Amino acid sequence: MHHFDYRNGLLHAEGVELGAIARAVGTPVYVYSSATLERHYRVFKEAVGEKSHVFYAVKANGNLGVLMTLAKLGAGADTVSEGEIRKALAAGIPAGRIVFSGVGKSAEELAFAVEAGIYQVNVESEGELEVLSNIAEQRGRRQAIVLRVNPEIGAGGHAKITTGGAANKFGVSWSEAERLYIRAANMPGVAIKGLAVHIGSQIFDFSALETAFRRMRGMIEKLAAQGLPASRLDLGGGVGVPYEIGYPFSYGTDSLQAYGRMVREVTAGLDVELGFEPGRLIAGNAGLLLTRVLYLNERADRTFLVVDAAMNDLVRPAMYEAHHEIWPVTRKPDAPIRAYDVVGPICESSDTFAVERELPELKPGDLIAIMTAGAYGASMSSTYNQRLLVPEVLVKDQDFAVTRPRQTFEELLGTDRAPGWLA
Ligand SMILES: *Cc1c(COP(=O)(O)O)cnc(C)c1O
Repeated sequence: MHHFDYRNGLLHAEGVELGAIARAVGTPVYVYSSATLERHYRVFKEAVGEKSHVFYAVKANGNLGVLMTLAKLGAGADTVSEGEIRKALAAGIPAGRIVFSGVGKSAEELAFAVEAGIYQVNVESEGELEVLSNIAEQRGRRQAIVLRVNPEIGAGGHAKITTGGAANKFGVSWSEAERLYIRAANMPGVAIKGLAVHIGSQIFDFSALETAFRRMRGMIEKLAAQGLPASRLDLGGGVGVPYEIGYPFSYGTDSLQAYGRMVREVTAGLDVELGFEPGRLIAGNAGLLLTRVLYLNERADRTFLVVDAAMNDLVRPAMYEAHHEIWPVTRKPDAPIRAYDVVGPICESSDTFAVERELPELKPGDLIAIMTAGAYGASMSSTYNQRLLVPEVLVKDQDFAVTRPRQTFEELLGTDRAPGWLA
C-alpha cells in the first residue's frame, strides 16, 4: 500500500501533483510520502506486537525528514556507522532507542556510541568484543550488547544482499557463539543481554527466517540452562517489498500478519524483549524517483529512452539487477504502447533502469516515476560522473518540503583540494 496515485490523469504523491514538484525542484528528484512511511511503521509494529522494539534500519533511507517522521511515531534506529548514529540523534531519536550493527565498527565509532549512551551494540566478532569492553571500561561504563550470530541460513532477493549464510561475513559463527557469550558475560565493560540475527534482505520466504529464528531460540534455551538467561532477542530486518506488481499495487497487511504470527509461534514462552530492524519494508514503496525524458534514441531493433536520472542516483538495477515499475506522470489511456530501454546519461552500459519496458508512448520533456525507490535509493547515491547529488522531497498531505536540496557545483567542487606541489 502506498499513497502515490493518479488524480485527473496526473500522478500525485498524497495531495501533491508530481509535476509541481518537478517545476519547483527540477529533476531528477526523490519524492517520499509521509503517510506511506507512517502506515508501514504502524502496520509492522502492530504485526510484531506493541511491546516489541522496532529499530528502523537507517541505511535504507537516512533522510532527515524520513527519520523525523518515524521518530515522531516512537521508532528506534538500527545504525551501522557513527554518521548514522549522529543522523538518528539529530532527527530526535533518543540514544536509548538506537542500536549499532555492522562487522567493522572502528574504535572511534564504538567510543562515540558508548559515550552517546546507546541502547545496544550488536557485536559481530571476538575482536570487536574486546575493543568495546576496553573502551567502555576506560569510561567507567558497561555497554549493553547482544551477540549477532550467523545462523548458517542465508536468504534474500539477490546474492549480494544475503547475509546469514556460513560464507557471509556477518556475525560470529554458530559454533563459537556459546563460548563468546560466556566470555562476554565475564567482561567488565559489557553487559550481555542476548542474541541478534539478520539473514538477508528482500525476503519473502518466511520459512528461512523461521528456521533461523528457531535456531536462535534453541541457543537461548541452551544458554539459560547454563545459568545465562537472555533478556533480549533481536530478529533483524529483511522482510521484502513487492517491486513487480502492476498498478494499482497494494502491500497486503496479511503478509506482515503472517510474519508476526510466525514470530509469536517461534518465541512463545520465551521471556525476552523482541527487537526488529526493518528498513526496506518501511521506506521501499514510500518513495519514487521522478525523472524527465531527455531523448529518444531510435535504433533498428530498439528504442532507448534517455532520462535525466542515472545509476549514481539509483544504483539498484545496475548493482542488484533490480526491477522497478515505471509509471508515466501523465496518464494517456489512448497512447500507443511502445517498448523502451530506459537508460541514464552515464558512460556505462549498466546505467539501465529497464529493458524492453512497455510504456505508453513518451516524448522528450515527459516525466516518469521510477517506483518503489524509497529504500536503498538516495542512501546509496553518489556523485559518479561528477553529477550533483540528487535532491529529496518529503510530501505531507497537500504540502511538500525539500529535505535535501540539490547539491550545488560549488559544493561539488569545493570538497577537493589541490596538492601543494601543483598549486
Ligand atoms: C541492512 C540491515 C537491516 C535492514 O534490512 P532490510 O532488508 O532493509 O529490512 C537490518 N539489520 C541489519 C543488521 C542490516 O544490516
